[in-house]
Amino acid sequence: MTEQALQAIRERLPEYVGSITERSKGGFWVCPLCGSGTGPNRSGAFRIQGDRWRCFSCGRGGDVLDLLGEIEQITDFRDRLLRAEEVFRIDGRMRPTGVPMIRRESKPKPEPSLIPESVMRASFKAYDQNTFALWLVRVFGEPKALEVAFMYGIGTSRHWPGACVFWQIDEEWRVRRGKVMLYNSRTGRRVKEPGNMVAGVHWLLGMADRKPEPCLFGLHLAAADRSKPVAVVESEKSAIIGAGFVPEFIWTATGGSGTLNREMLKPLQGRRVVLYPDLGAFDKWKEKAGGLPGVDVSGLLEQRASAGDRAAGLDVADFLLREQGITA
Ligand SMILES: [Zn+2]
Repeated sequence: MTEQALQAIRERLPEYVGSITERSKGGFWVCPLCGSGTGPNRSGAFRIQGDRWRCFSCGRGGDVLDLLGEIEQITDFRDRLLRAEEVFRIDGRMRPTGVPMIRRESKPKPEPSLIPESVMRASFKAYDQNTFALWLVRVFGEPKALEVAFMYGIGTSRHWPGACVFWQIDEEWRVRRGKVMLYNSRTGRRVKEPGNMVAGVHWLLGMADRKPEPCLFGLHLAAADRSKPVAVVESEKSAIIGAGFVPEFIWTATGGSGTLNREMLKPLQGRRVVLYPDLGAFDKWKEKAGGLPGVDVSGLLEQRASAGDRAAGLDVADFLLREQGITA
């Protein structure tokens, strides 16, 4: 099975959960494994976040394959995959035969919901408490930091003290998704303690199952200026650093190495597009986007990287900063 097919299966987690259990209070679900959430106050502990699930009552968690394995008591990974293919493949509709159904009637998939523009606008504040914005000031100086923050519409979130929000604004200026992340204001590196410190705004708003398709971060900028070629990188941070130092391109980001797909590049049809994958992602990106008219996949990082760079897992932002003589 290709990584793409596996990811497609992983993304069907909400649909699978919806077919085997029911909602409890506060964006949680009744745990199909331990039954937490069926008590008199209906406070469940089973939660979906992206393509992962976790139950805070029984402590189990994982991806859709782990859940399927638990439910159907399949321990071998390959057997889980085979069963998942069976369960998910059928004509886009899922038939979890043999799965004990807690909820009998099938529920239609909820309509995708954009983020209200007012929610995004409300995040445009408190930059003195936004550690990513503070780091941008260190890198660019205040005027330019504010300029790029304004261009990309970087927000501030109270979800964690110091957190920022990267909004995905599409070519028609619709806010598709938002991603809350936490950075170190001195190094510009992601804070990964105590957890991954990434939260989707849909999830925070209790609409995790209503996310529209993702778009490139910075797509609104590409749509607004058709005179420049478009660079596509993995992280929002790399796009913003690129915009500050190499303004000959419009810089956009996929928001993750695995999220790049042809659908995302469609709004850029007819443009010159250069993909700059991070170290180690060249082959994957070449496979996904190579051969599309007007699209080049740059091997620049792979060519320039030393063994030490590879070991450190340097990304596009690191390279651009190093070229400018800036070290974290
Ligand atoms: Zn549980």
